[in-house]
Amino acid sequence: MNQLIHCITCDAVFLRTPFDREPEYEHTAFLAEPIEKDDFRDFMKDHQGHRMEDLTIIEDSFVSDRDYVEPVKVSYFRATNGREDFVIRKFRERIGDPLRYELVSGDYSLTCISLDVQAREIDKQMAREFTDRPLPKSKIDSFIRMYSHIIKTVEVDNLERVPDESSNPLEVYYKIDDVTLMYLLRNCHRIFEGQEYSDVQKFIDRHRDDGVLLLKAIYKIKILERPKAEKRIVSSPSALESKKAKEIG
Ligand SMILES: [Zn+2]
Repeated sequence: MNQLIHCITCDAVFLRTPFDREPEYEHTAFLAEPIEKDDFRDFMKDHQGHRMEDLTIIEDSFVSDRDYVEPVKVSYFRATNGREDFVIRKFRERIGDPLRYELVSGDYSLTCISLDVQAREIDKQMAREFTDRPLPKSKIDSFIRMYSHIIKTVEVDNLERVPDESSNPLEVYYKIDDVTLMYLLRNCHRIFEGQEYSDVQKFIDRHRDDGVLLLKAIYKIKILERPKAEKRIVSSPSALESKKAKEIG
């Protein structure tokens, strides 16, 4: 069980994990004496006499700026002491460095900065699949241009997210909605006709839910730091003291 400890005096945080307590054994001929490699103990020693509190980590609030498997990246998650909310910034500078944690008073938000069709993937997939009756390159380009144009008015909030399509938490894939799909099919009549049209219709049907026709949104993490003045009032010992007094009384 992880425990997140906040030193209010220094605004330092420590995440206590089962790994911190893994003892290193010194192998001697006579006895194996465990020498505790206890980062937690070091933290407590460094902050001796300081005001401490436990923070609760908010579930499902983890987000990072790079692929999940990437070892060097910045992640954020939310935590609270019940009165005030925090964002914890988790990072390491180089591979092999220990993870570091920083506390920010406030919150983060995710903002969608772009929503696009997967132009290159559509191009490749159409060329790959239309082998019996290849589509002219100019028509593929027209289709991509038309599709890009149609989705300009789509609101990302109204789309259904496709889970686990991306390994990067800031790249999210969405299915096109039914109205946009109808509109797309109708506009395909301007580019394709006859057998070509029905081939393209089948292509759209095959790829709209899990393939190259998914829309790709890029998000950005924005940290919303609470103003320092407000923060000082909330975490100053006297404010806490009077609150505590009230709770007791
Ligand atoms: Zn401290």
